[in-house]
Amino acid sequence: MSDIRDISLAGAGEQKIRWASRNMPLLASIRAEFEKSKPFRGVKIALSIHMEAKTACLCRALELGGAEMHVTGCNPLSTQDDVAAALAGGGMDVHARRGASPEEYSRHLTAVLEAKPQIVIDDGGDLVNLLHTRLTRLLPHVLGGCEETTTGVSRLRAMERRGALRFPVIAVNNARCKYLFDNRYGTGQSVWDGINRTTNLIVAGKNVVVAGYGWCGKGIAMRAKGFGARVVVTEIDPVRALEAMMDGFSVMPMERAAALGDIFVTATGCRDVIDGRHFGSLKDGALLCNAGHFNVEIAMEELEAAAASKYEARRNIAGYVLKNGRHVFAIAEGRLVNLASGDGHPAEIMDMSFAIQALSARFLLENRVSLAVGVVDVPEGIDLEVARRKLAAQGASIDALTPGQEAYLEGREPAP
Ligand code: NAD
Ligand code: SAH
Repeated sequence: MSDIRDISLAGAGEQKIRWASRNMPLLASIRAEFEKSKPFRGVKIALSIHMEAKTACLCRALELGGAEMHVTGCNPLSTQDDVAAALAGGGMDVHARRGASPEEYSRHLTAVLEAKPQIVIDDGGDLVNLLHTRLTRLLPHVLGGCEETTTGVSRLRAMERRGALRFPVIAVNNARCKYLFDNRYGTGQSVWDGINRTTNLIVAGKNVVVAGYGWCGKGIAMRAKGFGARVVVTEIDPVRALEAMMDGFSVMPMERAAALGDIFVTATGCRDVIDGRHFGSLKDGALLCNAGHFNVEIAMEELEAAAASKYEARRNIAGYVLKNGRHVFAIAEGRLVNLASGDGHPAEIMDMSFAIQALSARFLLENRVSLAVGVVDVPEGIDLEVARRKLAAQGASIDALTPGQEAYLEGREPAP
């Protein structure tokens, strides 16, 4: 039985899902195909992705494809209770509440796995981790999984290296049509949407410090520049640091950036990127946000310990009065600012990411006998198919090689 906050919110959730759905044309076309061919007939799927309107569209596409869906969130603060209510109201098995305690969050993950799924769709690796630790007795039911995000794939690769991973998992994040758009343009826009709607402050003229110049960091820095901020990048990888410099940003270690920044956004997948080494240097009014992984990038416990007192400064913003008298602010307890204090990436972006998820889940099922245990790339064909369909949905078309060009590129030209 579902565990949600309030079923009376279903109407509001339905409205959000309808809006997202009309802006997700790829997923709609895949849903229509699934509805006819029922590729998941008789298959149970456990899904742990931000319980939000776009995710609801993915859940319904899989359900229409014949799957029995058991769904939960992947972050205790990103669940939207009205969306969870809409899915539960439609008869789906949903276990998600915004603000779930660590015990509730773990109970919700456990509940969807107790349904004995054949496919697990994960975001960040918590579901797969639980299956390989506390719930190993459920492993024999699992054919394979799909992973949505960068850190989830890193965790899987670490398990693979240790010889611990027990089934194939498709690295959805690593498809070009995922990270090039979702991580860069999706995060680039939704992080600023989250910060702006939560703070109602100006970005222009401020010093923005972006930690990590990967796909997410590039998007966040690019959009900060567009808003008129001076952007500083911190990195540990010399090549990415150089890339940031050539893109026109200042590069320096966090210990120096800490004293300069007005707004900090972490997007590294690493822990303690802003911690006790930095809090004492922060300016009065500095705003700390995380866009990377869970709540580990800003050392929140250390911040609590470093503060003389804490107060609610505005909805979703905690103010910390440091022992030097300065006030610093953190959004959404250091969890993903775009999802815990916003609606996450726009629908058109999640349309591509979730088209890849849906096609990868079908690929997993169709190729379950031949796929090796381990981290599996999304087939190139799926990536190209998603790009083609997205271009067509945008009303755009591209060139095709002439036979002469093909021969030239393959080195089949006659010698001069
Ligand atoms: P990426 O691997 O492309 O980039 C991460 C960058 O951070 C790398 O360049 C790395 O060198 C750098 N880095 C690592 N540790 C660092 C440290 N201590 N200080 C400074 N830089 C450091 O990864 P990505 O795709 O950009 O994803 C980054 C994180 O964001 C991941 O945890 C991912 O799961 C998450 N993510 C979040 C969203 C969202 O909606 N908020 C979307 C996609 C990915
Ligand atoms: N679950 C972890 C890991 C990061 S989640 C955590 O909560 O900290 C990052 C992923 O969220 C991205 O890969 C992106 O694809 C996904 N995402 C972003 N916006 C989303 C949205 N509106 N709905 C569902 N998923 C979204």
